[in-house]
Amino acid sequence: MSLNDMMAGLEPSRQGGLFDGIRKVVPYTPGEQPKGLDRIIKLNTNECPYSPSPRVMEVLAGIDGDLLRRYPSPDNEPLLSALSEYYGLDKKMIFTGVGSDDVLSMCFLTFFNSGRPVLFPDITYSFYDVWADVYRLPYKTLILDDDFRIDPTDYSVSNGGIVIANPNAPTGVSLDLDKIEYIVSHSRDSVVIVDEAYIDFGGESALPLLERHENLIVVRTMSKSRALAGLRVGYAFGNERLIKYLCDVKFSVNSYTLSHPAIRGAVAALEDDEYFKSVIGRIQSTRKAAEEALSSMGFVFNESKANFIFVKHERMDGATLYEALRERGIFVRHFNKERISDYLRITIGTDEEMDSLFSALKEILP
Ligand code: PMP
Repeated sequence: MSLNDMMAGLEPSRQGGLFDGIRKVVPYTPGEQPKGLDRIIKLNTNECPYSPSPRVMEVLAGIDGDLLRRYPSPDNEPLLSALSEYYGLDKKMIFTGVGSDDVLSMCFLTFFNSGRPVLFPDITYSFYDVWADVYRLPYKTLILDDDFRIDPTDYSVSNGGIVIANPNAPTGVSLDLDKIEYIVSHSRDSVVIVDEAYIDFGGESALPLLERHENLIVVRTMSKSRALAGLRVGYAFGNERLIKYLCDVKFSVNSYTLSHPAIRGAVAALEDDEYFKSVIGRIQSTRKAAEEALSSMGFVFNESKANFIFVKHERMDGATLYEALRERGIFVRHFNKERISDYLRITIGTDEEMDSLFSALKEILP
């Protein structure tokens, strides 16, 4: 008898008892990772269209079994030291984790513990409400205006923490530094997290504000601008005391987060700044060309500072466009959510990938 048959045979009250005591959540839906990567054009998860730095590949190829036999450093050294040197910040101000999702999740668990609602925009990274739910945190979403912009004064209310993606996802819209500072300085009794997953592609970083504001945490990732989504490396900056609390929670959950290859690869990526800058330059120029091409086809969008563009067409709805592109092997991201169901989020690929997208769109559009 299978486990399912056994379960089906149980008294309903017995089943209810077992399943009542379990943490149930509606999980985050990640962008699709379709099989047969050779034939498809993948513009749906904001990955970098170029390889990581050759230096990273060299370091990964040179890793030997003796290293893997050992646990990595619980402090994720030597990455911590490399980040400290690269950004000119004390090691005590830096936290590292398994991609910025891990870092953000630890931040939610550590900093948002007051019982007051956590605030974030109604249209933003769709993991924020999932973490709030899984950690049983109350939260409130604040409405962005019709151009998907934040009004900083909305955030000057009692709260248990604030999280803002800058540039925002999926809109690509960036928030000026003075507005971020306004939000941070009007919520001194709670932690404000600025998620800078896309900051290397444009916009102003909140890092200079760390000197003046002890309630600020800035989160970064190597997944986008450093082409290391598959290695899983993220990090956060904040004042010493906040980082200490964050480390205490991390060491209460999992001591060894980053693997040896992730640590070594991330260090190598930081060492090759020339390659990093050339990748950013290429993506920015493809983004500019894509904005021109898309607007000539009748798409409307706000200026994007990220490695994606969030577009809507005057004559075709988002779901239809998404399906028509998918049938042609081109994957973009569509969110079936209020206010944005007519939009598509298109990751900036290589020039060739973008040309294939434009040809497909010309075929599809009425
Ligand atoms: N923040 C934002 C705004 C994102 O879009 C993403 C990518 N899905 C992440 C964080 C997490 O990226 P990663 O875990 O790969 O660093």
